[in-house]
Amino acid sequence: MVGLKDVFAHRGHPLTAASRILGAFTSTYNATVVQRLVDEDAIIIGRHNCDEFGMGSSTEHSAYGPTLHPLDKSRSPGGSSGGSAAAVAAELCDAALGSDTGGSVRQPASFCGIYGMKPTYARVSRYGLVAYASSFDTVGILTRDLSIMARMLSVIAGPDDFDSTVSSHPVPDYFASLKASKQFRVAVIKDIMESADLQPEVRDALHRSVAELKSKGHLVETVDFALLKYLLPTYYILATAEASANLARYDGVRYGYRSPESSDIESVYKRTRSSGFGKEVQRRIMLGTFVLSSDYQDTYYAQAQKVRRLIREETVKLLRKYNILLLPTSPTTAFPLGNTTSPLTHYLADIFSVQANVAGVPALSFPYGKDKNGLPIGLQALSNDFEETSLFQFAQTLTVDH
Ligand code: GLN
Repeated sequence: MVGLKDVFAHRGHPLTAASRILGAFTSTYNATVVQRLVDEDAIIIGRHNCDEFGMGSSTEHSAYGPTLHPLDKSRSPGGSSGGSAAAVAAELCDAALGSDTGGSVRQPASFCGIYGMKPTYARVSRYGLVAYASSFDTVGILTRDLSIMARMLSVIAGPDDFDSTVSSHPVPDYFASLKASKQFRVAVIKDIMESADLQPEVRDALHRSVAELKSKGHLVETVDFALLKYLLPTYYILATAEASANLARYDGVRYGYRSPESSDIESVYKRTRSSGFGKEVQRRIMLGTFVLSSDYQDTYYAQAQKVRRLIREETVKLLRKYNILLLPTSPTTAFPLGNTTSPLTHYLADIFSVQANVAGVPALSFPYGKDKNGLPIGLQALSNDFEETSLFQFAQTLTVDH
């Protein structure tokens, strides 16, 4: 039984991306990932709430209102795939498909105490996934059980005639690979190990995992990653730029909602987009339009593209020397709903999750202990392109505590 974040096309079913702007839109075809699961007799149970168009980290930016954390109703389940993480954690389904552009599968998985994976950028087809930032978007999986996730990835991965960005790199039997074990060379980043900005229990969990790995004979080394401070600016410049272009199609003319108060073509655009999009989406479109505007394009967009290239190169180089980079998934456990007055608070909380998307490499978040309130802590492992197998084996090596 599989649930879908409300960003996947499922033939004959509504698709809204948790936005008013899609109105009563109904999908006329199946996303490739949905079709492949249905072909394997998966039962699709329905759609899960999320932040509008995947823009957010708390599932509070939804036209339907927030999703509550299954263990504590005053808290957020994370986002943007918060409905999916809550549903899987509450055992309403065995698994969910989410989308991960900057952490949206892994961060809610960590908040809810389950597994969340984003595969390599070119691993899984995006055909039928509502676009947020196309060069970052990946289809991810949320489960309580690693072996179900491994089986699902084998089903959904691989080339697709409808998405030319998917690689023809062979798809291994991820489930079979779970039987093997491996000695890992693990890197942890010095500034993160020592950071005072981490919730102390999250930092302790990271240190405990390092001790556990060493006691099991794995090599763990502390490294510097000088580009750490550029991760978030690079992500938020490029993701908003791509979002502003992708969301231009919602104009009240082609499909979905049209403001009834509009009289001519210009007011159709203006009124539809002003009342159809929520505040956070409008903020992202404005930011993206700004960084792409002719006066600022070179300063922001072009510069961020260059920095992205450096981040990718450094990350891949690190992951050649070590086969795993171990990080917290989020600096904190599940935060209270409504805890932020500035959108920046949530943007900053994506610090550890965006690197995998900026670099395009795969990452898996797994539960590793609880904080003093009994809320789950998540850690994540990154590996090099197409080495998802290592991530499964690595997560299995550690004593995961649900
Ligand atoms: N929280 C990040 C954002 O708001 C990531 C979202 C995502 O991965 N879809 O952009």
